[in-house]
Amino acid sequence: MTNLLEVRNVRRSFPRGGGEELLVLDELNLTLKEGEIVGLLGRSGSGKSTLLRLIAGLARPQGGSLSYMGAPIDGPVQGVAMVFQSFALFPWMTVLENVQLGLEALGLPPAEVRTRALAAIDLIGLDGYESAYPRELSGGMRQRVGFARAVVVHPNILMMDEPFSALDVLTAENLRTDLIELWEKGQLPTKGIIMVTHNIEEAVLMCDRVLLMTNQPSRIGSEIRIDLPQPRDRTSTAFEDYVDKIYVEMTARRVERMRAAQMVGPQGIGMQLHHVSPNQISGLIEALAAAPYNGKADLPDIAYEQELEVDELFPVAEAIQMLRLGEVEGGDIKLTHMGKRFVDAELNERKEIFSRALQSHVPLAAHIRKVLDERASHSAPRARFLDELEDHMAEDAAEETLRTVVSWARFSELFSYNDDAAVFSLEDPE
Ligand code: ADP
Ligand code: MG
Repeated sequence: MTNLLEVRNVRRSFPRGGGEELLVLDELNLTLKEGEIVGLLGRSGSGKSTLLRLIAGLARPQGGSLSYMGAPIDGPVQGVAMVFQSFALFPWMTVLENVQLGLEALGLPPAEVRTRALAAIDLIGLDGYESAYPRELSGGMRQRVGFARAVVVHPNILMMDEPFSALDVLTAENLRTDLIELWEKGQLPTKGIIMVTHNIEEAVLMCDRVLLMTNQPSRIGSEIRIDLPQPRDRTSTAFEDYVDKIYVEMTARRVERMRAAQMVGPQGIGMQLHHVSPNQISGLIEALAAAPYNGKADLPDIAYEQELEVDELFPVAEAIQMLRLGEVEGGDIKLTHMGKRFVDAELNERKEIFSRALQSHVPLAAHIRKVLDERASHSAPRARFLDELEDHMAEDAAEETLRTVVSWARFSELFSYNDDAAVFSLEDPE
């Protein structure tokens, strides 16, 4: 049987300042078979949306190949439809008109367009809302329109780009369950689904296979097959075991990458920092130190208890690991000796611990401090460091990295930064 989709050794990069290229995807391989829901799990910026655009034929790779039902993809693919996170509805059109829009490209007779659109609206649970305008609908209903517009074309491949992440918890869960039910009953007019998500539990709930993307340049790092019958029970041990397994895989890879980045010495300034405030760092350290964890916690447990999602927890855990206030290993996070001292310390001592951690373990912080120490004026413009960072990463990543180091340095008083003048300085050159 021909695969619905085959992605072979795909490479995609984007031009960056100074004639350089930002390599986003490299050696990426992926297959979608008929009857499968495949989840793509990766942090923001790892290239998930880029990959979906390649699959839809809206962009071309610089290397490798993609094929849809055995034929090379070299332009927009009719049989692929997409549901976006932001519902992307036209505000001046009714629900029916928004859904019909999906069919226009197919050139069907008007009567059939209407019949099919009404059927899709009915299927997706929007019966009675045909003539409503998007502004009259709740977020959940709007996303249902997004789904109806995608399935109305009877796409062989349905792609969903974080389709539930703009919805509140209950609405999202209702929509997930409805969708799975339709899929299981064979009522969705589609043969295979690719779903991008950053929510591990969502992936375990819905997917037959979950593919974990590595960080830039991204490939598929590993695959986890979810061998549970539908409908799945989030509270079962087997379900939790899958969630844990994915957590462990994801943290292991992230920690490894970070250790490698910290090890490269002077080049370590090229290590990207994700924006996490000193408050978030202290908050997680305090929660870890307190009962019931007493210094060591299972990452999924503490995420759940702190009401954090992966995308929110990982950067904080990573920052704690980077500063050596904690150790991430497998699916656990554990406070180090320094982390425990941090918890017991008064504010001034906390600042000192933080400052030392920055100088020893965050090459960029140490670098900025050194430059400021060496200059007679003890100051330097932001542009200088931004330029240096842009040799290693994209502009938005460089900006986030700089913003992060500024908030850490401010808290620890390692150096200061004036937003208006865009200048770094030592408050007290002693
Ligand atoms: P994700 O969907 O996983 O969050 P994206 O695919 O949107 O990630 O983006 C991956 C990386 O590629 C980001 O660093 C982003 O800045 C960059 N990127 C995406 N599209 C473009 C583009 N059209 N031009 C330049 N850079 C881009
Ligand atoms: Mg995206």
